[in-house]
Amino acid sequence: MTSFEQNSRLLQRIKELELENEILRGKISNDQTTIKEFPKIDSNFSLDEYKRYGRQMIVPEFGSLSSQIKLSDSIVLVVGAGGLGSPALQYLSAAGIGSIGIIDDDIVDTSNLHRQIIHSTSTVGEFKCESAKSFITKLNPHVHVTTYPTKLSNENAFEIIEQYDLVLDCTDHPAIRYLINDVCVLLGKTIVSGSGLKSDGQFTILNFENIGPCYRCFYPQPPNPSTVTSCSDGGVIGPAIGLVGTAMAMEAIKILTKFYTKDNFKPFLASYSAYPNQQIRTFKMRPKQENCLVCGRKKSITKEQIKNGGINYVEFCGKVVIDPIDEKYRISVQEYNDKIKNKQRHTLIDVRPKEQYHITNLPGSINIEWDPTFRKLDSLEEYMDSINKTDDIYLICRFGNDSQLAAKKLIDMGYKNVKELKGGLNKWTDEIDQNIPKY
Ligand SMILES: [Zn+2]
Repeated sequence: MTSFEQNSRLLQRIKELELENEILRGKISNDQTTIKEFPKIDSNFSLDEYKRYGRQMIVPEFGSLSSQIKLSDSIVLVVGAGGLGSPALQYLSAAGIGSIGIIDDDIVDTSNLHRQIIHSTSTVGEFKCESAKSFITKLNPHVHVTTYPTKLSNENAFEIIEQYDLVLDCTDHPAIRYLINDVCVLLGKTIVSGSGLKSDGQFTILNFENIGPCYRCFYPQPPNPSTVTSCSDGGVIGPAIGLVGTAMAMEAIKILTKFYTKDNFKPFLASYSAYPNQQIRTFKMRPKQENCLVCGRKKSITKEQIKNGGINYVEFCGKVVIDPIDEKYRISVQEYNDKIKNKQRHTLIDVRPKEQYHITNLPGSINIEWDPTFRKLDSLEEYMDSINKTDDIYLICRFGNDSQLAAKKLIDMGYKNVKELKGGLNKWTDEIDQNIPKY
């Protein structure tokens, strides 16, 4: 064999070894990502589980090993993996709930991350239920997670909810709350329910073991849709809603470990406020109401009625209907941009709340907050000494709803040349200037 041949063989062998090395490395890293097997040391848990749950098992109120076994035998559904669902899922999975279902058809967005901390920057764009599952799998491999990247609906609610022992309502709209409530009452499931907005929140237990009051007992009629504010409209502070979600997990643990019994359970509504001083006040609530449509003596709501769409929850709760103003009082963001380029004299009134105006605004605009009682716009002349009824006035808000109401008001007040910017600041960012931040 020539030295040339020897060299070639050696080089070939080095390449083979490098390849084997890569394969082995890949295998090791794959092994690290698969869930470790934890051999049970008795009929209950593995050594890892005794160590993992030890600090909660020794708390007297918790109830020791038997309570831990109850948690590991439990199967819990969390509806909504957002501001409430994030901490609830984190603590429930950490505490060793045996099996958790997560239903959410929403996608992780950067604007969620200041409060929905089960998700992360790296999971933006993923389904929230899948993103939450990957967090839980890393936190506690003993928990089995099932995901439902879908909306809970009349059609699927019974099929999904009947598989679970307990339901956490971590949603943010009355329509879905009534649906969850009715289905849980008809299936005999207890609900831990929470809500939160801005810096306040509430939580309660509904239909406890079918003896406690349900959501309809508390609220036979849905709230006026114009009073329902979402987190994107009204804002929300992360720790405030996080605290409510955490409290929901605590209530779930108390239910699953049988701290509450049919004898000692008293209906309550707990209310958390972050300002001025943080406090949780707990109000006693009335018991089950005899005239409740789903749990009372004269109940009329049935499984069949819900399943075949006999109750339209969205219709029941109503929608805010904006009666649009005439097209001649509206202007597109492009048309308005052309007017600026042509340096046309005009006044731009931004009718958003001042907190939003201070985040971002268009140059030259003035801020007069839209107020449905009209008080602020009534005093428009005080704001602008030189304004005439014939001046060109443009109105802008966040999405183009309030600006229509405000335009209508000004037209009624006798201003002749009023127009509102269709789609608001949001549209302006999309189509004219992407450097104007969305929030
Ligand atoms: Zn009821």
